[in-house]
Amino acid sequence: MPGGVIVVERREGLGLAERLYLPMLARGLWVSARHFFRNLRGFVTGKNRRDFVVQYPEERVDYADAFRGVPVLVEREEGGPRCVACGLCELACPTCCIRIEAGELPDASGERHPVRFDLDLARCMFCGLCEEVCPVEAIVMSRSVEMAAFDRASLLFDKRALLVPAALVKRRLDFLSKGYERPRDADGERAG
Ligand code: SF4
Ligand code: SF4
Repeated sequence: MPGGVIVVERREGLGLAERLYLPMLARGLWVSARHFFRNLRGFVTGKNRRDFVVQYPEERVDYADAFRGVPVLVEREEGGPRCVACGLCELACPTCCIRIEAGELPDASGERHPVRFDLDLARCMFCGLCEEVCPVEAIVMSRSVEMAAFDRASLLFDKRALLVPAALVKRRLDFLSKGYERPRDADGERAG
């Protein structure tokens, strides 16, 4: 089910009907009743369920691409995170919920990588600043919002728990690329 945007018109001054209060009360009741009976008809006939309550978890809302869910680490094709452990996201995070320990890959490339990358989702406020500062689109905001846990310790995600294949966050990567006009190479990774 696609998410929609409703633009609400807000007027500064109150008209006579609004100041008299009762006409607006009647109007509010009329709007509620109209929605109620339309939805009731949709429920009975199975049609016109346009603004019906989402039957979660059987039905899911298809969030807009700008939606910011749980931050995740993007996986490279050859495995492992794209992250080069520059530390910018750790620095930018306003709630200090990211902790990184940098190291070098054991192969001949000697590339930097995060030996440890922890993100405390109990403190994260989904602001997206980590994603914004990342120079290689290694941390992005996913569409996932399901993060219930019985204790705070279970919300401390390590590198392995945060890692997702790039294909799973493709829509977000495309959105970032378009929004920030970031060039991509042939593999779809950020270039320049
Ligand atoms: S979304 Fe915001 S609060 Fe959460 S990890 Fe990123 S920078 Fe920190
Ligand atoms: S900003 Fe990006 S590359 Fe740098 S440490 Fe964070 S996730 Fe890794």
